[in-house]
Amino acid sequence: MKAEHFVGGVFRSDGRPFPLVSPVDGTEFGTVPEATREVVDDAVTAARAALTGPWGAPGGEPERAAALRRIADGIDARFAEFVDAEVADTGRPREFAETVDVPRAAGNFRAYADLLYGRPERSYTTPVPGWSVGTGQALNYTVRRPLGVVAVVSPWNLPLLLSTWKIAPALACGNAVVLKPSEETPSTATLLARVIADAGLPDGVFNVVHGHGAGAAGEFLTAHQGVDAIAFTGESATGAAIMRNAADHVTPVSFELGGKNPALVFADADLDAAVDGTVRSCFTHSGQICLCTERVYVERPIFDEFVARLAGRARALDGYGPMISAEHRDKVLSYYALARAEGATVVAGGGVPEFGDARDGGFHVEPTVLTGLPETARAVREEIFGPVCHVAPFDTEDEALRLANDSPYGLAATVWTRDLSRAHRVAPRVETGIVWVNCWNLRDLRTPFGGVKASGIGREGGEYSLDFFSEPVNVCVQI
Ligand code: NAD
Repeated sequence: MKAEHFVGGVFRSDGRPFPLVSPVDGTEFGTVPEATREVVDDAVTAARAALTGPWGAPGGEPERAAALRRIADGIDARFAEFVDAEVADTGRPREFAETVDVPRAAGNFRAYADLLYGRPERSYTTPVPGWSVGTGQALNYTVRRPLGVVAVVSPWNLPLLLSTWKIAPALACGNAVVLKPSEETPSTATLLARVIADAGLPDGVFNVVHGHGAGAAGEFLTAHQGVDAIAFTGESATGAAIMRNAADHVTPVSFELGGKNPALVFADADLDAAVDGTVRSCFTHSGQICLCTERVYVERPIFDEFVARLAGRARALDGYGPMISAEHRDKVLSYYALARAEGATVVAGGGVPEFGDARDGGFHVEPTVLTGLPETARAVREEIFGPVCHVAPFDTEDEALRLANDSPYGLAATVWTRDLSRAHRVAPRVETGIVWVNCWNLRDLRTPFGGVKASGIGREGGEYSLDFFSEPVNVCVQI
């Protein structure tokens, strides 16, 4: 696989190449060009030039919606290539790419092609006051303008899904986009550029620059004065760094950041469903989904049984996929060691699996269940982003809420109970942007998605994304 930049409608690969490494077995299987400041400048310039054309002009919705549908069709047409690329970059199970990553990417473009037509705008008839010139009434109405050049900076955990979740609404609103995918997972971004080139979008409307973040392409792009808005998904600390740079130009930001997501399991829950759901929420994609649970609070009467069943399931997991890189594996293992040092009981996992084959060269860690830590422990407070959870008991609903909310993060929570009143009482009091009751990661793309506290700024999804990627402008006409 050879990743390439896509700038002003042209593929190029200037910049020092760095290797693309398979997380499954540690082998090098491609190269990625490290975009220089010039490449990023060229991409922003090309995007700005595209804005002078018809792409974002008023009344362009039908053409843009048709273009988004052609992109979705283009992804479908190269479905197998996208699956291969995502599996190679991330090491995730093939089925995940086939059922989640690639269909959702095409779905993101179709969803925003549809949503473009479903948007009402309000108008107001206003009496003209006596002190104003003339009499009668004025009509106020709103038009929505694109923001301009949008920088999209995306992470490695759901590379295609999360980048298209921003690119589709940004394009729908008539913006030009410069995407900087994660340096770990550049392949589907390069393929997407090919699809978009084939879909016939004007040159410069969509651009891709590859490379690293701090002191490199990511920073060059987000600090660029030619960028009008930044849509970023990644770690909270990276969000803070981007925000500092964005402050120089007062660039608006939309941030989806880290989490330390709680699950609350009440004694009245359907225990089979709660165990199943918690296995999924802790260990899907080896915990490398921002919505994954890392803190599980279980009502004391069922605590021992829940821990035993969760640990049994964790030990039996197979084919859950590696950590994205050697560096990330080492970070996760350092948290396993830290948890031990902080006094944790390791009920399941805690180490590195041995396969006796090529996978031993990859970046695998064991699914891990911990208990016995105080809430002040770093392993309980900090995002690990691996297949690991800490399970603690609680005695009352208020205590469960206090424990869940005692976190700098606030992305997603899961509540397991069969008591309908309790579900409705608890859900609004959990300080997260998303609360699932008796389920996890069930998504309707029209709903608001995002975090509170250190987990993000703003909301994505449905009209919420269209609101961010366009600027409402009031037009006042005296009649
Ligand atoms: P990361 O913050 O390390 O990197 C994300 C992107 O930012 C990459 O493209 C990287 O190159 C770039 N980057 C890094 N430093 C930069 C800088 N100083 N300036 C500009 N760009 C920079 O995150 P990651 O490790 O790729 O992804 C994992 C993190 O993402 C976790 O914290 C996870 O919780 C979070 N995440 C959040 C959501 C959500 O919806 N809230 C979704 C997925 C992942």
